[in-house]
Amino acid sequence: MKLKNSLLNALPMGKKLTIAIDIDGTVADSSKVDFTKVGRNPYEVMKAKPIKGALEAVKKLYSQGHTVVFHSSRNHGSKKATEKWLKEHGFPFHHIEMAKFIAHIYIDDRAINGCSWKRAMREIKKPNLPGKLARKKGLV
Ligand SMILES: [Mg+2]
Repeated sequence: MKLKNSLLNALPMGKKLTIAIDIDGTVADSSKVDFTKVGRNPYEVMKAKPIKGALEAVKKLYSQGHTVVFHSSRNHGSKKATEKWLKEHGFPFHHIEMAKFIAHIYIDDRAINGCSWKRAMREIKKPNLPGKLARKKGLV
């Protein structure tokens, strides 16, 4: 029996999206963070600085009613410090997932590259969101 695509896809497309946002290099310039120290001192992550345009973009997405989930491959023990950093810099969010593993490259059919927030915010408005082709082909 073949299930309908909408049943296979745990998150059916709607006007309100669940948006997973990476932290380091996406909303946080972590160039001053020594990640070899984070295991002993999770608050090392407080040295990060917000990336230009990220705060405004995340606030906008949140206020539009989307579900904002930050996800990170940071050490699990740094979750509280990460939450503190996000709050101190005013990033609104619904949830933090420390469940992303470290890889050199992520290839994802639903990705919008967040290095340029201006471009990411343009992409998110398009009716053909990333992943649409895969969904259309019945791959998800
Ligand atoms: Mg990153």
